Amino acid sequence: MKHPIVAGALVACLALAVACSKNDDEKPTLTIGVKFDQPGLSAMGTSGKPAGFDVDTAAYIADKLGVDADHITWKEAPSAQRESMLNDGTVDFIVASYSITAPRQQQVSFAGPYLVAGQDLLVRKDETRIDRPEALDGRTVCSAEGSTSAAKIKKDFAAGVNSTARPTYSACVDDLLAGTADAVTTDDVILAGYAAQHPDKLRVVGHPFTRERYGVGVKKGDTELQGRITSAIQDMISDGSWERSVSKNLAPSGFRPLSAPVVFNAPDTAVTAVDPNTLDPELVKVVNRLAETSNNQQWDEFNTMTCPDAAPAINALVKQYTPQFDERIGPDVKDAGFTNTITGITQTGPDSATFLAHESFTNVPDKYRQYFKDIDYTGTMQRQNGAWKLCNLAADFVES
Ligand code: GLU
Repeated sequence: MKHPIVAGALVACLALAVACSKNDDEKPTLTIGVKFDQPGLSAMGTSGKPAGFDVDTAAYIADKLGVDADHITWKEAPSAQRESMLNDGTVDFIVASYSITAPRQQQVSFAGPYLVAGQDLLVRKDETRIDRPEALDGRTVCSAEGSTSAAKIKKDFAAGVNSTARPTYSACVDDLLAGTADAVTTDDVILAGYAAQHPDKLRVVGHPFTRERYGVGVKKGDTELQGRITSAIQDMISDGSWERSVSKNLAPSGFRPLSAPVVFNAPDTAVTAVDPNTLDPELVKVVNRLAETSNNQQWDEFNTMTCPDAAPAINALVKQYTPQFDERIGPDVKDAGFTNTITGITQTGPDSATFLAHESFTNVPDKYRQYFKDIDYTGTMQRQNGAWKLCNLAADFVES
């Protein structure tokens, strides 16, 4: 007789006929693509198994699909090979610092995002001239083939940069240490892992200039697997595993990600999910006033409309997503403006509701367009002592 958990796992696996295969002892297996050389996210350990936040995420998803960690085959997925490995079936899915971008969505499908990072620079510790990407004119910067990072600097920041491309970022780090490159560029979370390996020799500049939404890549059009992975990511965030893995794997390098993203793509066109006539008019008034006070930066009034116990988290989130508060970018975006528009309100009960809002930015210099992307918000409203309050807020950038 089969163990009940194994039987359950097989049911989950059978529903996923494409993604799961069974080995001789009838246990479902998965082949997952990860990086092998990105400490903190995913690096090969002495045990012969990779470890890090991406690996934890992949293992969590596998578990939800009914596959235990011992039955995962890990394959190295270098940046330039991810699309082909998915579409030729070499791997079932990929969790490898893989940014969701509109061009990649033509070739593969993504679940997520499960983490948001930003492109930055890694330099030698004694480097004094390179404090932002513009300073790379005339210098040599290394990045990985097939990454979003490789083209970005030359296109938007330093036309005179000498770019070199390697198959992996660890090869770029070797060049930096050897003095044949002046900087390595990719996402801050990856660079922080290398800096932590060489604290006396390397440092991250700390001036991010894009937002990278990491997704789990699946074969183009596999909406079944995409949906299962999306709900596994939601579970990983809501049960605390996401936060625990961030603390264990990423925090030691000094990297702190934006708060857990919204893992579904909120519609960005105007939708009002129920007849507006059935909505409590007071609810509509408060939701609209939240958007107005935010647009006018009337934070004192905004704060009167938030649940007291949720206020710190909401304030932290608003701060993270408002250009004027962004100390790392500084004067380049001091004139940036933003507009929030409420795109839908759903009353889920007499005292509960959710809304969607869309934020767009004005006066952002072109080179920061991948940093100040439009944002979708989802808010949860509750009526407390007769007054509607914002009790939870989550945000996700929108690819265009
Ligand atoms: N997140 C970027 C990308 O997907 C850079 C990191 C990487 O190459 O894995 O291209």
